[in-house]
Amino acid sequence: MSINVSPAAMPLDPEIASRIVAAVDDLRDTLVATLQAVVRVPSVTGAEGAVQEVIARQMEELGLSVDVWEPDPTLMAPHLEAVGLPESGDWAGRPNVVGTLRGSGGGRSLILNSHIDTVEPGDPERWTHGPFSGDHADGHVWGRGSLDMKGGLATNLVALRAVMAAGLTLRGDVSIESVISEEDGGAGTVATLLRPYRADGAIITEPTRLRIVAATGGSFVFRITIAGQAAHAAKRDDGVSAIEAFSYVHAGLLAYEARRNAAITHPLYQPIANRVPLNIGTIRGGSWPSSVPEWLVAEGRGGLVPGESLDDVRREFVDEVRRIADGHPWLRDHQPIVEWVTGQFSAGEIAPDDPLVGIVGAAHETATGSPVAIEGVTYGTDARHFLQLAGIPCVVYGAGDVTLAHQTDERMDIDALLMATRTVALSIAAWCGLEDGATPTHRSTRAVSTPAR
Ligand SMILES: [Zn+2]
Repeated sequence: MSINVSPAAMPLDPEIASRIVAAVDDLRDTLVATLQAVVRVPSVTGAEGAVQEVIARQMEELGLSVDVWEPDPTLMAPHLEAVGLPESGDWAGRPNVVGTLRGSGGGRSLILNSHIDTVEPGDPERWTHGPFSGDHADGHVWGRGSLDMKGGLATNLVALRAVMAAGLTLRGDVSIESVISEEDGGAGTVATLLRPYRADGAIITEPTRLRIVAATGGSFVFRITIAGQAAHAAKRDDGVSAIEAFSYVHAGLLAYEARRNAAITHPLYQPIANRVPLNIGTIRGGSWPSSVPEWLVAEGRGGLVPGESLDDVRREFVDEVRRIADGHPWLRDHQPIVEWVTGQFSAGEIAPDDPLVGIVGAAHETATGSPVAIEGVTYGTDARHFLQLAGIPCVVYGAGDVTLAHQTDERMDIDALLMATRTVALSIAAWCGLEDGATPTHRSTRAVSTPAR
């Protein structure tokens, strides 16, 4: 879905917009160096402490007021079904970092969010450039996290730096968030909202190929336990194989997935073939090659789209498993047990006509010369926390293709990163408003709320 954003959505004077774009372009080397510096400090989920020190220092150099803290397990307790608790039981040594630039007043506030944790690099020998080299070669910065999503953090830092370098004074407050623990559920962003950081809008600079992601999928993670009846393999017809019974259930679930897909009418999901993927991720079952397996435990993840309620979809899933089992001669009287596992979250969306979508879309068009595309995705992002926990309008927009994330030779295209940085810098100015004639047309709303100390 491609939209032409009306010029009215871009409140910036063209001369001011040109100044901002030029300031970003002048900072190209800084953009590369910022990304390299953070890629070179590993920050696999669970070990984000060292890189956060580097980022806090950069924010201080930028003149931001910097807040560094570890999520409080007591405050997080009500949210654990969605975000999960680390094995260690807390987030010790894993601080969030937020840097805030206060506006002069009378403008809208903005949060720029990025997660700093990454997945494992895998076998370093397989990388063309080492996973923590941060090498700048062939127009890319290489390394684990360069795309997902240290590039997004560099975008946020350099975009704000460019607005300041252009000599502009913002009216609204801007907070740049470098959060932990997104890859395993989003505890870092939830902790910022509990701190409580709030604003009139939020942009998450995850890699979206410079498209606006306005809708993100939800998920329910389940465990299905099936009981069979053991027998000697040589007399297998005397028993009931839990593995064969599960095959029957699985076939039924795939048919259910197809029916769900056919019923989804959300416009942003129409271009996607599988809108609500239902995946079985693990299977354990049986105890001995020569015995008919009397047990099986399968775990998997189902998807949902905005507009569907997590509770309704989960209830329907349980009913569906029962309905499938009712068609099987053994399972009918030995019903599978369905349980929920950590990783339950709703889908989220921002209305395509929300002013934040208009501003980011107009900024993209000014930055790149092309209209922006708006899309829905089947995966979840921390956008859901802003939208659902705090009612903060949130879009996801950034450089890079997420399908290249989590892979060997992860790398960020610097030309694309520069475009994203232009867009975010223009969005900051247009959303927050400027002093001295570079005027926003909107009324004052709220300051970024920051914690009492
Ligand atoms: Zn990410």
